[in-house]
Amino acid sequence: MAKPIVAIVGRPNVGKSTFFNYVAGKRISIVEDTPGVTRDRIYTEVEWRGRKFTLIDTGGIEPYSENKIMQQMKRQAEMAVEMAEVIVFMVDMKDGLTASDKEVAVMLRKSGKPVILTVNKVDRVGELPAEAYEFYNLGLGDIMPISSVHGLGMGDLLDEIFKYFSEDVEDEYDAEVIKVAVVGKPNAGKSSLINKILGEERVIVSEVAGTTRDAIDTYAEVDGDKFVFIDTAGIRRKSKVEENIERYSVMRAWGAVDRADVCLILIDAVDGVTEQDTKIAGYAHEAGKASIIVVNKWDIVEKETGTLEEYRKRVHEKLGFMTYAPVIFISAKTGQRVNKIYELIKYVANQAALRISTGMLNDLVGEAVAMVQPPSDKGKRLKILYATQVAVKPPTFVIFINNSELFHYSYERYLENQLRKNFGFEGTPIKLIHREKE
Ligand code: GDP
Ligand code: GDP
Repeated sequence: MAKPIVAIVGRPNVGKSTFFNYVAGKRISIVEDTPGVTRDRIYTEVEWRGRKFTLIDTGGIEPYSENKIMQQMKRQAEMAVEMAEVIVFMVDMKDGLTASDKEVAVMLRKSGKPVILTVNKVDRVGELPAEAYEFYNLGLGDIMPISSVHGLGMGDLLDEIFKYFSEDVEDEYDAEVIKVAVVGKPNAGKSSLINKILGEERVIVSEVAGTTRDAIDTYAEVDGDKFVFIDTAGIRRKSKVEENIERYSVMRAWGAVDRADVCLILIDAVDGVTEQDTKIAGYAHEAGKASIIVVNKWDIVEKETGTLEEYRKRVHEKLGFMTYAPVIFISAKTGQRVNKIYELIKYVANQAALRISTGMLNDLVGEAVAMVQPPSDKGKRLKILYATQVAVKPPTFVIFINNSELFHYSYERYLENQLRKNFGFEGTPIKLIHREKE
């Protein structure tokens, strides 16, 4: 299911990141932070009234440089207009209305997107202070007063955002259809790969209108198996916004990833794994999606014995949080190994949907505990009482323990490795949730 994107736009220092952090801190479904990806986090998943959305701080996309503020604000506003379902336009009551606020407001108004004019730093409860009234001149309708520092007005603002979300529609595809997102940085070969796949003789293709605004879905049947390739707007038609804004191209992938069962993460073999690739893979991982790392342009890599294995190792080193993902080496140009992709997609989709019986699971946990004793602290030892799988896609396990403080990350990793060793789960992240129980 596609999660709506909500973008925060506003001048530097109006309080965007304070707001972002406040909301992020309050999020109900906490996704585990991925080392190496979260350093400069600009997006977060938020759940409000049972609906999940992605909140983006556009101010974090590029660092501000003093003399280019207006230009950068415009670009951020453009991005927000292009990708967000709802825009939070933040102004600062302490600064009052500024010329750049006015300019940005004009752009946002023209876009026709829902824009919520949010006046930050209204640090008192009660009546709207007189200073706030001038913002009505922006012609963006009503004002939402908030104080990000004190957490005032947050619920009302989130409710207002929520109002604009379109109906929560399920994808109309049958459960047997595997939805595949083809993602990667610009020029990695996404269009080439999709065209190659769809151009194959044994593939029966029909283009269907995507269920979300920006996506084109291509339905394809291969030897009786059904796939939908999800293509985001940026892949086929170039966007108005410059292609070279690095992080923007990363964000393009999100909508596709959110809807997918399986992500094909394309790496340009010549460039190797880049920062952008890490960000895209990190998003897929945190979203709990099954992934295949597709090293493309293998035709132009000079090869000796062991090149491929060496390369695979390096990919897994760079994407250390995703060592579960299979790596395939292809050429979208020559078609080398492209026909192996379907089998691999089916395989990882099945792995992500695996259910382990509670009996087998607890046998395994029992053995794991016997092999490596759980950690102890100040005379108290971690006890694992019971485990059960509560969800698939990704496989999610609840582990009941005596004391959360004793459940160290290293032991969690150990248990995850044991689960993988015994049950596979190749290509899919798995989640372990622990609950205390006396
Ligand atoms: P950004 O550049 O828009 O992301 O702004 P920041 O979130 O970094 O905030 C800029 C400054 O404004 C910081 O010193 C914040 O502590 C302060 N600030 C943010 N929100 C509020 C607020 O609600 N009230 C007050 N008084 N200060 C705030
Ligand atoms: P996208 O931006 O990710 O959709 O990338 P494109 O599919 O447009 O490909 C970018 C460039 O890389 C084009 O010039 C392609 O012809 C080229 N390209 C794509 N795949 C391959 C490949 O497997 N081998 C080689 N040599 N070139 C490729």
